[in-house]
Amino acid sequence: MKTTDQSPSRVLVTGGAGFLGAHLCRELLLQGHEVICLDSFMTGSRRNLRALPALGRFKVIQQDVAEPIELDWLDRIYNLACPASPPHYQADPVATVKTCVVGVLQVMELARRTGARVLQASTSEVYGDPQVHPQTESYWGHVNPIGPRACYDEGKRCTETLCREYAQREGVEVRVARIFNTYGPGMALGDGRVVSNFLVQALCGEPLTVYGTGSQTRSFCYVSDLIDGLLRLMESGPEVNGPVNLGNPTELSMLELADLVRELTGNPVPLVFSPSPADDPVQRRPDIRRAQQWLGWTPRVAPREGIGRTMSYFAHHLATLSRPQDATPEAASRPWPDVEQASNPS
Ligand code: UDP
Repeated sequence: MKTTDQSPSRVLVTGGAGFLGAHLCRELLLQGHEVICLDSFMTGSRRNLRALPALGRFKVIQQDVAEPIELDWLDRIYNLACPASPPHYQADPVATVKTCVVGVLQVMELARRTGARVLQASTSEVYGDPQVHPQTESYWGHVNPIGPRACYDEGKRCTETLCREYAQREGVEVRVARIFNTYGPGMALGDGRVVSNFLVQALCGEPLTVYGTGSQTRSFCYVSDLIDGLLRLMESGPEVNGPVNLGNPTELSMLELADLVRELTGNPVPLVFSPSPADDPVQRRPDIRRAQQWLGWTPRVAPREGIGRTMSYFAHHLATLSRPQDATPEAASRPWPDVEQASNPS
């Protein structure tokens, strides 16, 4: 993980209770920064934050990012607030668009007022079902604007537009990360994405649910690599003047992933096939030359190693669940089993 030579600063992480957000908060605290986590807890979880107060100056604000953010001084803002798993962002598409678009407007206004630099989390979904492979940042993408994924894809595309306009017109310092599929310890059991689904299913001795033929590909990045990329991008200089792909270019088909999961868990469970979701991208792999050149970043954790570590995390998580009924694949496929009731922000 990159160490920082800057003096400690006051950092806001929106979506800080989510999978990536909590990892990022942890790393920032370890670097000595004061961290404020803002989260609605719609998909984020207090469980992800349990260990953080012991690491330094850490505060939680329970709030929707689409509401005005009443903070008066900040040095950095990481805007990560938005559900990222297809079943979660499709559960309330209007809320997803609002989180992306109104959320970034609130963040940009906050940045304008405080002078904070912003890192905006965008996504490989801006490329839609890409016709260019691998995807470079100069590719405009192939998105169905009225499909079931559009709330996220178009929401994030509009987010990028607003980042650019605030940078150009208002002088806000912005960095944009196009994040490709990321996985690792800390994912919720019911995250709904393929790595967690397959691992939880195999560990529970259940068949792996393959959508479509399983020949579609993704490139999976281990969480510590991704966080390292975000930190480097935030602290990058003026040579960075456009969005940057962050992802691991090792490409796997879902069948290859299923084989790896079965091998690593030692559980040769069968596969069950169901129809491909509408507009499911067929192929995805990042071109990371920009990140390599501009940030000196390259992912280090290979899928075999990362999936192995994530398997250990889920095995431990399943074993320690206090309610055995939560350890079933049915529970794992329910959205947001980790959502807790609203409680007072600490
Ligand atoms: N997928 C699958 N089984 C699952 C969940 C997902 O075969 O239980 C497929 C899905 O159709 C897609 C790929 O895995 O082709 C990656 O899906 P995920 O939801 O993880 O991420 P995204 O589609 O957003 O890249």
